[in-house]
Amino acid sequence: MRKLEQLVRPHILRLKPYSSARDEFSGKIGIFLDANENAFGSTTKKLFNRYPDPYQQSLKLQLSTIKKVKADKIFLGNGSDEPIDLIIRLFCSPGKDNIIVIPPTYEMYEVAATINDNEVIKVPLTNKFNLDIDSILNSINANTKLIFICSPNNPTGNRFPESEIFRILKNFEGFVVLDEAYIDFSVKDSLVDRINDYPNLVVLQTLSKAWGLAGLRLGMAFAIPELIFLLNKIKSPYNINEVTQKLVSEALSKPERKNDMVGKILKQRKWLEHELGKITCVEKIFPSDTNFLLVRFSGANAIFEYLLEKGVIVRNRSRMIHCENTLRITAGTENENKKLISCLQTYCKEL
Ligand SMILES: *Cc1c(COP(=O)(O)O)cnc(C)c1O
Repeated sequence: MRKLEQLVRPHILRLKPYSSARDEFSGKIGIFLDANENAFGSTTKKLFNRYPDPYQQSLKLQLSTIKKVKADKIFLGNGSDEPIDLIIRLFCSPGKDNIIVIPPTYEMYEVAATINDNEVIKVPLTNKFNLDIDSILNSINANTKLIFICSPNNPTGNRFPESEIFRILKNFEGFVVLDEAYIDFSVKDSLVDRINDYPNLVVLQTLSKAWGLAGLRLGMAFAIPELIFLLNKIKSPYNINEVTQKLVSEALSKPERKNDMVGKILKQRKWLEHELGKITCVEKIFPSDTNFLLVRFSGANAIFEYLLEKGVIVRNRSRMIHCENTLRITAGTENENKKLISCLQTYCKEL
């Protein structure tokens, strides 16, 4: 790995960040006349007149225990999309640097890089959805700053072997961003603790999936403290609002609720897999380490439209590379899944 100072955009190293009122005084007791807040209260019943903690310290302490990572290795964002964007803007000079992505995968990496005017080098998975490590390593050039790997991958559902991710980490001078949005559904453990062995690893996780908190927007990035420091330097000052901080804190104190739901979701995914296997127009159900199934149908587009008519909305992934004729189906509740299966049975019988 190259030194962090050689990878980061030079002007960011020199940047003097905005200093908020809460940066300059972070005590809890006193008469607060420093932030131009409304001292009389809020227009809502609950009080939100004070700015939230800019560094979300109490949340990070809770997460530190749950994830077994020191708080200074945690960055919190407004969904994972915020760290994705910040990491790209931290490392990649517009019109100069590039990132590597591995389609078919989550498309936000490409979108965020394109917004910042960075080239996106695409090294597709093989048609069996495996990483093509040699091609990935051969695609790196002098301006490649980041490689994004999503594992378990969206939309293919599979997880890549650790040994392959380590091989990329060892042979790349820049940072590898490993998106573990679906890790709670996986049989294998997170690679978060490997930040200690591989300083060029950034792990992304989210509360949007297993924790059931998509609406609150909380994404996590785990990395060496030096990188977290730079992300904090360029984020907007109060990026996690007070409601999110409060409710997430409540949620994190009851991890057994998350585990219970993950169990239910996995049971439903297995049921779906079993039932889909009996439907004539299903050609292949891809193995999944997530809360969804990627399914190849004969005539996926028509099935997608039919399901829409019946009020069942799935994701058509047919336009993505190696995903011709596929729909991505999230495991829902028992009733939702039964409805989906009965629609598919009716439709496919008539073919
Ligand atoms: C759902 C998902 C996320 C989560 O994004 P948030 O902004 O945290 O809601 C991140 N990465 C992947 C691959 C996803 O599928």
